[in-house]
Amino acid sequence: MKQTLLGRLAAAAASAFFIYGSCAAAENAEPQWLRVAVHVHTNVSTSQYSPAETLQALGKGGADAVIFTDSLTRRWEFGMWPFPSLIRRVVEQPSVLRYGPERYVREIQELNGAEGSLALPAVEAAPFYYWARTPFDRRGGQIRSWQQHLLVLGVTDPARLAALPTRAFDPYHGDRGAEPYQRFIDAAVDAGGLVFWAHPMTGHLAQHGRIEDFTEPYPHLLKMTRGYHGFALTYLGYLSLVDPGGVWDQVLEEYAAGKRSRPVWVIGELDWRGTGRKPDAVVTWVQVRARTPEAILDAMRQGRMWVAIRNEGNPPAIVSFSITDVLSSRQATLGQTLEATAAVRVTISGARGGKEGSTTGSTRITLIRNGKVFEIRDLPDASFSADWIDQALGGLTIYRAIVEGPNGVAYTNPIFVVNGRLP
Ligand SMILES: [Zn+2]
Repeated sequence: MKQTLLGRLAAAAASAFFIYGSCAAAENAEPQWLRVAVHVHTNVSTSQYSPAETLQALGKGGADAVIFTDSLTRRWEFGMWPFPSLIRRVVEQPSVLRYGPERYVREIQELNGAEGSLALPAVEAAPFYYWARTPFDRRGGQIRSWQQHLLVLGVTDPARLAALPTRAFDPYHGDRGAEPYQRFIDAAVDAGGLVFWAHPMTGHLAQHGRIEDFTEPYPHLLKMTRGYHGFALTYLGYLSLVDPGGVWDQVLEEYAAGKRSRPVWVIGELDWRGTGRKPDAVVTWVQVRARTPEAILDAMRQGRMWVAIRNEGNPPAIVSFSITDVLSSRQATLGQTLEATAAVRVTISGARGGKEGSTTGSTRITLIRNGKVFEIRDLPDASFSADWIDQALGGLTIYRAIVEGPNGVAYTNPIFVVNGRLP
């Protein structure tokens, strides 16, 4: 019995080393937290500022790294069905494909390290839209679902970017459900990309001449698609997705039940266009062992990150979130899976944040286990630390935490616990 247990622990330790040890040199470096600005536009697509100006602005706002996500393509067309190629109207706006993907990737990679900030080229894609009303409708035309977007990180081969399927389905046959998105996700993952749903809780209504551009919020697509790596949180007020038992917990439960091949991570997105929002309104904190674009993408792939969203003042900060097996002392952190033998200790620590100089306010920590509130604690001090003892349950147990401070909220990615006594 004991030998079996030890063997199991040794195997788990070896696999943990394998994950950590993918780069032997980096293994020796102390992990560090980087503030990453995700979902950033430049004048390549929808902002008026160049990549260099954008990197400078976000670097001044505290970003250690900027993940540029200019729109891959912004093109819509109307052809007279059933002969769409005979009479056709095409509207094309600035985008990565129009700018040239090779030039886009190269220019952003050349910026890497400027102003002390890392710069990563990535794209935002709109895989599908359809005509709900033709341009000849007396109310004007309406295209739908064009603002259902996906972020693709880590694909830097221009040919692979250009080949991502953004026009695989014609726009004349109504809504195609999840199909165009699933095809896009599969292609982006095949190309080595990390794929995150962008702003799933944001609706959109805009007018382009006589054409209305209308998109409803699309949290349902997180449940209808598979194989993507996560989704992005945008603003305060758009957070029901990550409430206990919400869509995020539902898709995590599917992973725990073996119905998804990979977990679904949360990231924060700025949707930066150079105006309006503060550069640090939404920060994705990523824990890396080297200050490089590759290390950031690797950590994001593994879920080693948490998200801070603020209004005024400082949001709460998470210093550590971990789970320890009481018997073996083995430990797992964000995104990892702990093989537990009996009881586990869940630990979270950090700072509550607040307005500059303020010493009041408390921190509310909500520990969530398998989509349900495990416990809520209100802690009064500027620095907080909380822990819980829990029995290792059967199957895969999912723990995550929400930390609310006086001036913002932070979301951890989950830690998984698997009961080591099970076969
Ligand atoms: Zn978007």
